[in-house]
Amino acid sequence: MTTPTLRPIARRLRGQPASDGAGVRLTRVIGNSQLPDLDPFLMLDEFGSDKPGDYIAGFPSHPHRGFETVTYMLDGRMRHKDNHGNEGLLTPGSVQWMTAGRGIVHSEMPEQDHGLMRGFQLWVNLPAKDKMSAPRYQEFSAEGIPEVQPTPGVRVKVIAGQIGDVVGPVRQPATDPTYLDIALAAGASFEHALPIGHNVFAYVYEGVATMAGEDIVPKGDLLVFGAGDAIRIAAGSAPARLILVAGRPLNEPVARYGPFVMNTKEEIMQAFVDYQEGRF
Ligand code: MN
Repeated sequence: MTTPTLRPIARRLRGQPASDGAGVRLTRVIGNSQLPDLDPFLMLDEFGSDKPGDYIAGFPSHPHRGFETVTYMLDGRMRHKDNHGNEGLLTPGSVQWMTAGRGIVHSEMPEQDHGLMRGFQLWVNLPAKDKMSAPRYQEFSAEGIPEVQPTPGVRVKVIAGQIGDVVGPVRQPATDPTYLDIALAAGASFEHALPIGHNVFAYVYEGVATMAGEDIVPKGDLLVFGAGDAIRIAAGSAPARLILVAGRPLNEPVARYGPFVMNTKEEIMQAFVDYQEGRF
């Protein structure tokens, strides 16, 4: 056994305020001008507000083709409905992993819960061979997401990936994703090995984390890790919460326009035609 090489911090960025859907105010962390994507991740939005006017108009009927959307709710509820007959309600702690594949038209409408609505939406690309696959939903309640305590003061919800013997419920062989929600008590630290070659990011959404014992990483900062085996994250004198996400890069050309993400411009134009002619 060799000692794992800790992944260095390659980039550190702050999310940018944005508006999407019918005027939902959110923070775009990936998929903006400073970080258009982090292969295979195309977008990360953090939505969160205690003001219903910031989000209640939601995301009315809209299409997707060519990738997956992953919604993780922290607070509040999100009702989804699609043109393939699926309907469901995301509640706090639940996850919806939707494979748009060749096409889906759906709505995502927030519902208030004590005025709060908070969560993330991550877009994960699909390889060319899977872009026109049949759409599907994987939905997991909060109870369906295992939580582990790898070391004292550290609690991890394993949405995708593995910690010890605990495997998250989401499977996607194309990108082999890891998606962990990590809560650190004050002074606690967490080290975790991730597959070599995967792209890895962490996004701090509560408190302040520290890296390598010195870099102070406040809520709202995104860290992109460089090459290595493992990451190490700690909390300072206060607790911190963050998501840690990794995936195998596809290394394919990306052609994107709004809700369509394909490999070529011609495929994007075809997506528009297919959507307009009702073939989703
Ligand atoms: Mn959508």
